Amino acid sequence: MPELPEVETVKNVLKKDLIGLKVIDVNVYYPDMVKTNNLDSIKNEEFLDIKRLGKWLIFETTNYYLVSHLRMEGKYFYTNDCLKTKHDHIIFKLSNNSYLKYNDVRKFGVMYLVSKDKLFLDTPLKELGLEPFSKELTPDYLLNKLKLKKNSIKTCLLDQSIITGIGNIYADEILFKSHIYPLKKAYLLNSNNCLDIINNTKEILTDAIKYKGTTIRSYTSSLGVYGSYQDKLLVHTKSICPICQEKLVITKVSGRTTYYCPKCQVEDE
Ligand SMILES: [Zn+2]
Repeated sequence: MPELPEVETVKNVLKKDLIGLKVIDVNVYYPDMVKTNNLDSIKNEEFLDIKRLGKWLIFETTNYYLVSHLRMEGKYFYTNDCLKTKHDHIIFKLSNNSYLKYNDVRKFGVMYLVSKDKLFLDTPLKELGLEPFSKELTPDYLLNKLKLKKNSIKTCLLDQSIITGIGNIYADEILFKSHIYPLKKAYLLNSNNCLDIINNTKEILTDAIKYKGTTIRSYTSSLGVYGSYQDKLLVHTKSICPICQEKLVITKVSGRTTYYCPKCQVEDE
């Protein structure tokens, strides 16, 4: 699943292609994907900007926001080719005779088209916690969010209502760099742990954006961009700790494959 750095990369690439273009027509082949009435109102709208919040893409048009989540396998193709392939579920015809195709093998992706005043009312954006780069993300904020959580810190890092944008890969990397056992109960974390998590989250995500994300699945290959942060990962998908050479433990947390070092991320700290 694309996480914050991958969605940021998709946003940056699409911005170069789409800003200033108008939508001439839209065809929705899998209506369940669209969670608001339909996408008809986007006809004749111009793309003014594309933003990102957490793992969500927000296309700003003249009068609306088109809000899109890629979930597991969603991809955008910007192309001159008008043919629909099997997994193209939504196709926008653009004013320069090109097409924006939303392709999704798993069909888990979702879209919302809302008027501008409804962005944080009629979409799941209203449930999001703080962006990792927000000034409001302080140890006090995090401590306060975690103090009643009986589940693990890894589960809480994946919880988009606390910090938004972190997924399975980066959660493992953040906890490794913070020397925190991923299954540690969240309410047991102290202020220093929270500060470490915040600092490492910012550092890792900034670095991952610089490398255009992690290509474990080919999330942006559709746009001709290949992220290379997989070469920088320290624990996720790895077998040996890069610090102490201990064999890494692979386990499941909330159903997600989790990598950690049993020496550097001690259970009873
Ligand atoms: Zn280690």
